[in-house]
Amino acid sequence: MIEDKNPQRTSISDLGEFGLIEHLTKHFEIKNPTTLKGVGDDAAVIDFKGKKTIVTTDLLVEGVHFDLSYMPLKHLGYKSVMVNLSDVYAMNAKATQITVSIAVSNRFPLEALEELYAGIKLACDVYGVDLIGGDTTSSNKGLLITVTALGEADEGEIVYRNTAKPNDLLVVSGDIGGAYLGLQVLEREKQVFKVNPQNQPDLDMYSYIIERQLKPEARKDIPELLKKLKVKPTSMIDISDGLSSEIIHICKQSKVGCALYEDKIPLDPQVISTCEEFDISSTTVALSGGEDYELLFTISQDDYPKIKGNPSMTLIGHMTEEKEGMHLITRANTKIPIEARGWNALKKE
Ligand code: ADP
Ligand code: MG
Repeated sequence: MIEDKNPQRTSISDLGEFGLIEHLTKHFEIKNPTTLKGVGDDAAVIDFKGKKTIVTTDLLVEGVHFDLSYMPLKHLGYKSVMVNLSDVYAMNAKATQITVSIAVSNRFPLEALEELYAGIKLACDVYGVDLIGGDTTSSNKGLLITVTALGEADEGEIVYRNTAKPNDLLVVSGDIGGAYLGLQVLEREKQVFKVNPQNQPDLDMYSYIIERQLKPEARKDIPELLKKLKVKPTSMIDISDGLSSEIIHICKQSKVGCALYEDKIPLDPQVISTCEEFDISSTTVALSGGEDYELLFTISQDDYPKIKGNPSMTLIGHMTEEKEGMHLITRANTKIPIEARGWNALKKE
């Protein structure tokens, strides 16, 4: 995980708005030839030279989307960028630029914002995107962050949610459920800490799932890999809200049904062991957990040999005619309708 904490406390008002922006952004370099003008003018200028432009934005609010009592600011900066890049990759596009806007209360010293921007810079460096602008303002309470990500793609490369076909195969990258369980562990430790601040939790056995929650990675590699394998998904979405709601988005928008196989859902061993400890079904967690930022996509059956055996992708089901509905096929071979919170049906297990 990334290091955090700078013990000094310099008041933001000592720098003034321009000094602050300059201080926070001066170490960012422009890496993409499409960025003609970044931070520093009234607006940024980009030139995608005939390619299509992808734009997406997310607003994160303290107390709603993140809790600073266990989310280090550097991780928060990193994650704010990831959630946006994930949306760009879900369009099968290349992410190239971001803008970052923040509203901060006077509770935050300069050092806190330095940490936030250190995470943003790390994300920019690892993912090859340019910070090209933003806005800075004060808030009466708490911290708000808006990131907008831009990306590029050839028109023919872009993949939407509404183009899956019956008989297409349903595929997911990585493994799921970890981020939600990581949050459950962090919430539990927060409660323990409230009762006994001396308690030093040993979280080693949860390292993977905590990292999934605090430092998620967007799947930049998947669109690149699919391109190399000459597979264009027939539809794609990123998993921000849990498998069941993302499947429903694809099915409803594409006017198809689907069969999802419970025994095929990819789970990390730490997800399985932590589910046992918390006494919840791992399928429940995978279906409605969220924040995994994996990619869920459909491919034509003809393309299956090209992805078969690839460790980054798992076949979890197939699409059907719309009238057949959306179903989870359980390990016991029973069919359960997938609902927005499809885990309700499983809760009684
Ligand atoms: P304006 O008053 O025209 O909105 P600002 O003073 O807000 O200009 O911004 C000056 C420059 O700094 C612009 O390029 C803007 O995009 C950039 N900028 C402002 N705030 C941020 C921020 N939080 N992160 C990155 N760039 C920023
Ligand atoms: Mg401004």
